[in-house]
Amino acid sequence: EYVLNGTKQWITNGGDAEIYTVIAITDKSKGPRGASAFVIEKGTPGFTFGKKENKLGIRSSSTRELIFDNCRIPKDNLIGKQGMGFIAAMKTLDKSRVGVGAQGVGVAQGAFDAATSFAKTRIQFGAPVISFQAIQHMLADMATHIEAARALVYAAAKFIDTGAKDVSKESAMAKLFATDVAMKVTVDAVQVMGGSGYMKEYPVEKMMRDAKILQIYEGTNQIQRNVIGQALIKETANKK
Ligand SMILES: Cc1cc2nc3c(=O)[nH]c(=O)nc-3n(C[C@H](O)[C@H](O)[C@H](O)COP(=O)(O)OP(=O)(O)OC[C@H]3O[C@@H](n4cnc5c(N)ncnc54)[C@H](O)[C@@H]3O)c2cc1C
Repeated sequence: EYVLNGTKQWITNGGDAEIYTVIAITDKSKGPRGASAFVIEKGTPGFTFGKKENKLGIRSSSTRELIFDNCRIPKDNLIGKQGMGFIAAMKTLDKSRVGVGAQGVGVAQGAFDAATSFAKTRIQFGAPVISFQAIQHMLADMATHIEAARALVYAAAKFIDTGAKDVSKESAMAKLFATDVAMKVTVDAVQVMGGSGYMKEYPVEKMMRDAKILQIYEGTNQIQRNVIGQALIKETANKK
């Protein structure tokens, strides 16, 4: 049996999900090798949730704190071996980050589609705003960035599917690029739509707010750059 104590803030779907994967320190003296992964069911005595957080975006997804107060869990709930939790978490992130990249491609495509159809029907100075080169150039950049992001996400996913042992760099690159694209494209979609883009009657202001979290969770984009940087150092270690 293990007894868990402590909290973890900001868990997506916290309180809604029935099953949780928790990484807890089981041996403080061992650093990263002292963390272990557990599966814990909602309803386990000693396991409760904090308040639903009030957020800028992804407001249809609950975010709550997980609270463990003398939460007793059977040994069978240990995932893998004791001490392997940090490694399991890193390996999970290597695969899940591409999924966040895909979220970026999706929200960017949605914002682009909304902005394009608006630009075709909004008449100013006697012409649809899409006829202005300034608007066309914004849409051209948005479309180009989305295609590049989609290609990188697919390439990283394909690389993971080959069963390659180390996918950290490719996964981080896909997450970093596609989510930065999502932020830029959604901001530009609001701009293409002018005041209408700022209004809740249209979907792009929500997409812009939703895009921001993609640059933050699953490791911030600064952390992705660190991961890529470390991989480059490793790759070039034996090259002159
Ligand atoms: C809505 C939401 C949902 C979330 N869902 C989950 C979830 O389901 N599961 C989960 O485990 N976590 C979840 N998180 C937590 C999320 O992963 C973290 O917030 C995120 O990794 C950033 O950590 P932090 O907030 O502590 O930022 P901090 O670490 O405090 O970072 C602050 C700033 O410093 C920068 N920084 C920090 N360290 C470095 C460094 N070494 N090098 C360069 N720059 C650095 C960061 O990039 C950032 O700009 C969620 C967060 C939010 C807001």
